[in-house]
Amino acid sequence: MILEVSLGISLGVMIFLFYLGYDITPFIILVFLGIMFYLMLNKKGLVKNETFQEIHSVKDFRFENIGGQEVAKQELKEALEFLIRSHDMKKRGIRPLKGILLTGPPGTGKPLLAKAAANYSDAVYLATSGSEFIEMYAGVGAQRVRKIFQAAREKARKSHKNRAIIFIDEIDVLGAQRGSHASHMEYDQTLNQFLVEMDGLNNNDDVNILVIGATNRPDLLDQALLRPGRFDRQVKVDFPTLDGRLEILELHTKNKKLADDVSLKEIAKETYGFSGAHLENVANEAAILALRNNSDVITLQHFKEAIDKVMLGEKLADKANPQILHRVAVHEAGHALISELVKPNSVSQVTVTSRGNALGYVRQSQEEDQKLYTCQELRNQIKVCLAGAISEKIVLGDKSTGAGNDFHQAVKMAKTIINSGLSSLGVVSADDLPSAKINIVIQEIIHQEEMLVEDLLNKNIDLLKEIIDRLIKEEKISGECLRKIINRSAA
Ligand code: ADP
Repeated sequence: MILEVSLGISLGVMIFLFYLGYDITPFIILVFLGIMFYLMLNKKGLVKNETFQEIHSVKDFRFENIGGQEVAKQELKEALEFLIRSHDMKKRGIRPLKGILLTGPPGTGKPLLAKAAANYSDAVYLATSGSEFIEMYAGVGAQRVRKIFQAAREKARKSHKNRAIIFIDEIDVLGAQRGSHASHMEYDQTLNQFLVEMDGLNNNDDVNILVIGATNRPDLLDQALLRPGRFDRQVKVDFPTLDGRLEILELHTKNKKLADDVSLKEIAKETYGFSGAHLENVANEAAILALRNNSDVITLQHFKEAIDKVMLGEKLADKANPQILHRVAVHEAGHALISELVKPNSVSQVTVTSRGNALGYVRQSQEEDQKLYTCQELRNQIKVCLAGAISEKIVLGDKSTGAGNDFHQAVKMAKTIINSGLSSLGVVSADDLPSAKINIVIQEIIHQEEMLVEDLLNKNIDLLKEIIDRLIKEEKISGECLRKIINRSAA
């Protein structure tokens, strides 16, 4: 806009001077230099920086289209009442809610919630990311902060609305504790400006602005941001629960044709710990696999492959040599058999196909999301972790390096047992114990479980060998098939 007006005026003056008979060459050079200078500043973001503000239409984003996250949705809706009923709030002398902080791991749909919030409250929506404010040029970040608040007001007025939501993803980049950055002057100035803008928001503005920040590292944020009157509310956006996963899968398969054998509930059970983004990816990968197999519909097998791909990565083209394949089968059969013996119905699939960094793996499924574990349940999990290496020792006579990650997991669970006061030490403050002492108790727990696993595997050695043979022949065994083998041998 500034460029266009200046060019128009310059052209007018030049024509006028030319008409009067003046030499206008110096004037042309001056205008040219002016344009170059303007463009240079623009490139540095000092003049016009509206490009970093994404302005979305949010009419397609509704809370109903976000799977799970019931608590987060409810808390957000309650908070949005401040924005929607700002008139009422003002009359009652309630200060406006200026900021909501969405905290949670990546892929859990924080921007979706912010867009749905804008739609729900009929507000103008501007989105940006914390990193967009950070520049190496002093003062640029602070100017950008001012601009986005200004833009929110202007957009709202233009759209004849009196509410605006500014969404700032990765707000920890902008709002990290002051003094924590190497080039801290610029970072601190940007954050200070942000605090000033937030403090300036009040009930008397013709446009009410709500800032929604998102981060997966709330611990990094400057305390000044979190104090009352700024980011007043923190809404936790966590990994979806079983029901949440089912809802997300339903949403992302709405536009896809599913075979009759597909049970989204089963898939939800097998995707414990997946985020919304992972689940969206599973649905997408399953559709791609169906396309590759020239199938009109997506089958359960496509979904299972898609889960493996999202969890572990693409299948490796190179097949392991027979010796390694045999060892992997022995290892995975050990995990799978012990998993079924200590917790029936826990195995969904066991395979010796290499994917990503894994040479083989056992995928477990869970009826319910579990938040509490008894000591026995933790010990059973340790057994499952140790079973791969012990199976190798029993069948092949020695262990291999393949169990490194298993041991890491086992130690982690042993530490949970100690920290929860469930070990032979009783209730202790693990921080005040010498690490050598903790190590002895970890060894004690692991050793006890090793003995039990060895005993269990030796007692079921024929069954173990049958599973190993099947695995080598068929590359993978489903949970149902595994249970049939186990039940047949028990009969
Ligand atoms: P974040 O910013 O929290 O990392 P995103 O919003 O970028 O997560 O999530 C990426 C994608 O994952 C979304 O565009 C959406 O397709 C999907 N997704 C994540 N959570 C959900 C959810 N609760 N319901 C439906 N889709 C979801």
